[in-house]
Amino acid sequence: MSLRRILSLPRTLAFRLTLWYAGIFTLSSCVAFFLFYTLITSVVRERTDQELLSEASQFSTILAARGLEGAEEFAMIEAQAAGVRKVFFRLLYPNGQAFASSNLSYWEDIRVEKTAIDRLLRGERNVWKTVFLRNRKEEVRVLYALLAPRIILQVGQSMENYSRIIDVFQRIFVTTMVLLIGLAAGVGWFMARQAVSGVEAVTRAAQSISAGSLETRVPVNPRGDEIDLLAMTFNQMLDRIQVLIKEIKEMSDNIAHDLKSPITRIRGMAEVTLTTGKSLGEYENMVSSTVEECDRLLDMINTMLMISKTEAGVDQPAREEIDLSGLVRGACDLFEPMAEDQGLTLECNVSERYQMLGDNRMVQRMLSNLLDNAIKYTPPGGKVSVTVIENGRREAVLSVTDTGIGIAQDDLPRIFERFYRCDQSRSKPGIGLGLSLARAIARAHGGDIAAASIPSHGSTFTVTLPTRGGS
Ligand code: ADP
Repeated sequence: MSLRRILSLPRTLAFRLTLWYAGIFTLSSCVAFFLFYTLITSVVRERTDQELLSEASQFSTILAARGLEGAEEFAMIEAQAAGVRKVFFRLLYPNGQAFASSNLSYWEDIRVEKTAIDRLLRGERNVWKTVFLRNRKEEVRVLYALLAPRIILQVGQSMENYSRIIDVFQRIFVTTMVLLIGLAAGVGWFMARQAVSGVEAVTRAAQSISAGSLETRVPVNPRGDEIDLLAMTFNQMLDRIQVLIKEIKEMSDNIAHDLKSPITRIRGMAEVTLTTGKSLGEYENMVSSTVEECDRLLDMINTMLMISKTEAGVDQPAREEIDLSGLVRGACDLFEPMAEDQGLTLECNVSERYQMLGDNRMVQRMLSNLLDNAIKYTPPGGKVSVTVIENGRREAVLSVTDTGIGIAQDDLPRIFERFYRCDQSRSKPGIGLGLSLARAIARAHGGDIAAASIPSHGSTFTVTLPTRGGS
């Protein structure tokens, strides 16, 4: 691992996740240890207290049965039996003076506490004290109990054995904890690496894309987890971007090509007129051709702008009441002479009245494009028919069918793209924007357009548009 990677490690998600994992693990282990430790010490203390209480009750019984002498004797025997370093006894008068005791050579540090005796005399049954002997680092539990009205017992027991158990417990805990925290950090690091490895793959793909390779894709595992979903979505996004970039490239190629031809023509005419033109008539001819070419250019640019604005929703269609049937009949009347000139029959089958909300001008433009194409791409002797029917889903279905040259199956999916022209129609005038605009208008009105065709037999363009219900 390089030094840069090591230095940047604390900023990584995997590192922070590991830290969190190890931290939470340590904290919960400490809480568990603390609870366990408290439980053990309280159990140990309770056991010691029970033993001291039982000693006190035995003293009471012996005092009642055999008097002071019996109690003194019992103190000696008990202390010896348990071990003089483990327990001690003092029998005291209420003023705190000891009148009998076990061997106290080991317990000289433990004094009689006046406050404890006062509390007993005030009526408390037992008074408990825990004394820590600093020099021996030992804890002693001491009980003061009133055996008879004027006799007090002070009994103490060393908690050294229990302390030793707790010490061992502490040592085991610390060692285990160190090992477990190391293990937790290792497991945490492994888990975090597993989790972020997918994200890293996405990052690597993004880096390679920024470096210029748009073909790179993130490998997707069949597990279907969140990372795989991210990778899939990322790949889909890349597919879409790749298609868009290809389209933009093709479109800019087409625009450049379509702009180049008229401009070259204008320049050529101007050059010829300048070099050879002598008369005013020749100059007038050149100017009128230039105006014509400029009109064509302007028309193309305006159509491109209109498609973009309509598709982007900038040019929202007006919502005026349109008599679709009347509009179709009007368009057929308008194109009738053109069809006749081409030697075609134009048929208009609109029996009912269909009303819709929309932009009259836009719908007219869409219909004109379709009729214009149908007439343009149908050889003389053919037929063009326009039909409007209702499909039962409150939609008007407008079809423009011709018996023309048709469209190849490979071209069909692309004819609605901007500037797309099929090879066999390149001899005809046109710039390849009519169908793109027709589709943009249909969609802006909540409808759509589709094409079906059999090459050399003819084509049908079907536009569905929401109606306001037939009448
Ligand atoms: P153009 O200005 O070339 O007519 P369009 O966008 O209107 O542009 O149409 C795109 C292409 O679709 C045309 O160039 C032509 O190849 C094909 N096309 C459109 N309508 C028809 C039709 N009725 N018959 C055959 N081909 C058609």
